[in-house]
Amino acid sequence: MSSVKFPYKIELHVHLDGAIRTETILEIAKRRKIKLKWETLEELKSHLVVLERPYTLEAFLEKFHTFMPVVAGDREAIYKIAYDFCEDCRSHNTFYVEARYSPQLLANKMTNGDKPPYAETEGDITPREVVNIICDAFEKGSKDFGIKVKTILCCVEYNPEWSMEVFELCKEFKSRGVVAIDIACGDLAPGVEHEELHTSAFKLAREHGIHRTVHAGENGPVEGVKLALDEMHAERIGHGYRVVDDPELYERCRRENVHFEVCPLSSVRTGSVTEDLDKHPLHKFIDDDVNFSISSDDPIVLDNDLTQDYEMVMKMGLDQDHVIATIFHAARSCFASPEEKEQILKDLVQVYGDKFMKM
Ligand SMILES: [Zn+2]
Repeated sequence: MSSVKFPYKIELHVHLDGAIRTETILEIAKRRKIKLKWETLEELKSHLVVLERPYTLEAFLEKFHTFMPVVAGDREAIYKIAYDFCEDCRSHNTFYVEARYSPQLLANKMTNGDKPPYAETEGDITPREVVNIICDAFEKGSKDFGIKVKTILCCVEYNPEWSMEVFELCKEFKSRGVVAIDIACGDLAPGVEHEELHTSAFKLAREHGIHRTVHAGENGPVEGVKLALDEMHAERIGHGYRVVDDPELYERCRRENVHFEVCPLSSVRTGSVTEDLDKHPLHKFIDDDVNFSISSDDPIVLDNDLTQDYEMVMKMGLDQDHVIATIFHAARSCFASPEEKEQILKDLVQVYGDKFMKM
C-alpha cells in the first residue's frame, strides 16, 4: 500500500527528539567532535533501532542516551532537528502535527542550577532558549512546507522540580504555537515522587487555558490514567492501553470522549502490549468506537513512519475508511484553536469527503 491513500495525515503523538534523522546525529557528532561508538549510518541505525527482545520501556528509553548528548545544548543542532522535522512531516503528507519534547533535556544551562542531564559542555542554552529556537524553526518550517506544526512541552516524570518551569514556558510561548503540557519519559503512576509538583503544574495549565495530555496506562498501571484525568485534567491520554483493565474507567473515558493517542508499533516495542496482535487492546478500542488516533511516537528508535503505523492497524483489521475516521478524530481532538480546527476539518472533508464527519 502506498501513502497515496492517505494524502492528508494528522499526528498528535510524536517526540521531536525521537524523530531526529539518524544521519543528522552522525553529522552533528562529526562537527562537534563528539566520538560515537557507531561510525557509519548502518552501524548507528542498527544500534538505535529497538529490535532485541525482551522489549521493555527501559531498553527503549535507554537508546536516547546515545544521541541526546550530541544534540543537547547546540543551537544549530536544535534548530536543524526541528526544521528537518517539518520537512519530514510534509514528505509524509502530515499537514497538522503536534510535536513534543522536554526543554530541559535539550538545554545546556539549567535555570534552577542543576547540571543539564545531556549537555556535553556548559553554555547559554537554557530551557527557555530551547523553546525559542524550536519555535523559530517550526514557524519557518511550517511556512516553507505549507503545514502546521504545534508544540507540546513535556514534564519529565523523574524530574518533578522541572514541571513548574514547563508550565511557565507553555504560558510564555502560547502565542508561538505551544499548545499543551505533557508528562513523559516514564509512565505515570500514583505515588510517583513529588506527584504534587507535577499535578500543580497541570492544574495551573488548566487555569491558564493550556491543554493537557499525559503519558499513562502505557507500561504502567491503569491507575495512572485515573490520576491523569482526576488530578491533571488530561484531555488526551498518551497510549493508555491499560485502560481496558478497568471497565468502569474505560466506560467513563468513552462517556467523556477522552482521546487516546495510540502508537501501534511503539506499543509492542516498549513491551507495553503483547506481541500477539490479536490480543492488542486496540481491538477493543476499535470495536467500541473509542476516540483514538494513530501516531508514530519515536521514529528514530522504531524505524517507522506514520504510514507504517497505519498499515499495522490495517493488518489488525481496521479498513481504510476507519483509518481515515481516526484522522478525523485527531482533527477534532487536536489542540489547535477552534478556528484552525474548523479549517483542518474543512481541508479533510475536501480530501476525504464528508461521510467521515459522522463517523
Ligand atoms: Zn510518547
